[in-house]
Amino acid sequence: MSVKQITSHDDLFLQIPAKYLPTNLRLSPQTSFWPLQNGKGQLAVNSLSNAIDIISTILVQKINQGFFSDIPSPIVQILYERGHLIDMTPRELVEKYSKSRLAKISPIAIIGLCPTYACNYACIYCYQSYARSPQHKIVDISHLAPLREKIGNFIRDYKKSHNDICLFELFGGEPLLLGNEEYFDWAVSLCREHEAHLIITTNGYNIVDYIDRILINRDVIAKVSTTIDGINELQDLRRRPQSGEIPGHGFDRIISGIKYCLGLEVPVKVEMNIDKNNAKSIQDVLNYCRDQGWLSNPYFSFGISKIDDRMLTGRKNMLSEIEALLAVHDQLHNTYASLHNFKIVFLKTAFYLAKAFNIHYGQNEYGRDNFNYCWATSNIFHGYYYDPDCSAYRCTFTVGNPEYNIGTNASCASHKDIWRGPGILLDDDCLNCVIAGYCAGGCTVSRRIDKEQVCIQEKKVFADFFAEFKDVIEKYVTAG
Ligand code: SF4
Ligand code: SF4
Repeated sequence: MSVKQITSHDDLFLQIPAKYLPTNLRLSPQTSFWPLQNGKGQLAVNSLSNAIDIISTILVQKINQGFFSDIPSPIVQILYERGHLIDMTPRELVEKYSKSRLAKISPIAIIGLCPTYACNYACIYCYQSYARSPQHKIVDISHLAPLREKIGNFIRDYKKSHNDICLFELFGGEPLLLGNEEYFDWAVSLCREHEAHLIITTNGYNIVDYIDRILINRDVIAKVSTTIDGINELQDLRRRPQSGEIPGHGFDRIISGIKYCLGLEVPVKVEMNIDKNNAKSIQDVLNYCRDQGWLSNPYFSFGISKIDDRMLTGRKNMLSEIEALLAVHDQLHNTYASLHNFKIVFLKTAFYLAKAFNIHYGQNEYGRDNFNYCWATSNIFHGYYYDPDCSAYRCTFTVGNPEYNIGTNASCASHKDIWRGPGILLDDDCLNCVIAGYCAGGCTVSRRIDKEQVCIQEKKVFADFFAEFKDVIEKYVTAG
């Protein structure tokens, strides 16, 4: 009977002491077994503790039959420490032994600034179309004093009990619309006042129109973040500039903007949003970036995200987490080692599994605390998106959506809104679910709409990982 550990002690979410061995043991509801080929035993995966182990088949039988007295006590002790055998409820385990990443990771404050919800694009997958007014109202910056004060209070509160890491993000709608120049200058002055840096998240079309401002304020700009979903027409079909544009022209403008920024040594992050229609083009986009010399430019980084249907609207052509990971893996597993400043950013329930088998392609989930599905519910990440009226939103997906407006009183200290709960501890169903620690209740937006559907999707992600990456797992286990 044997246990071989794949995740190390440092990877565990729970610090269960090995010395103490209770007698009332039972199998954890969070442990599941996944057979390996050629009699190599089974993978025992516990999502609550993040223990992933190879266990001999005879030991799995004894565990499943509850014959713990037949198992040598040093092995029982390991199974207890790893969280496969438990003597308390999952809630008690989390409350007693939870090892939060908060202790190890510096918190970060990012204040999103949304001058408008209007946009000059109509992307096929835009999740803000409900909020976009057809008219672009120019913000009168003389009316922004209350917002400046609110943000100042937020930052002062944050700095009282945290470090000094603080960023602003220009967001929207599209923040670089013509007419927003004064707001841009206002945002830069806010950064200077609080000694913070600015991220500009833009569709990229107007970078060229703002390049003089980017040039004179480059000491403040942390990065310009934009999106390329394909080359030439493929980009413009998905991320559509105004009607009447010549196909490819929008793409050309974005490329010019990126070139200008890199020429000024302003960091640029390009993200590619994939779904079934462009997932096979990852390599094409990377080749294009390589041909431009960007992949070896220290100011350039590249990320792959996937288009999600967090509002559960039944959108077509979505990729599941596993399908998206397969698309990346199929195209990049031979070349990934040579890519610098590259990462994927779409794994949630499958993240810790992918990490354990080294196919997480740079994703680090910096702002996500244990037992939370994403950064939006984590206490590592502080901040809200504010519009000019001081209305606050917590998650990117909900910005501008009145249903998710959390009012004008969001503050660093309060943490009372739906986003800042104790993650998995909110829900008893989740605490008894096999994927509890990895899914942690799922996306807050989707869960509010249809929790049952969320559960079906997330459990499928978990099971599909073992089915689709069988070869990767076998190879990893054999090599180890
Ligand atoms: S949301 Fe559903 S699938 Fe996710 S942990 Fe909770 S019960 Fe499990
Ligand atoms: S709650 Fe998290 S996963 Fe859900 S839409 Fe917001 S950021 Fe994304």
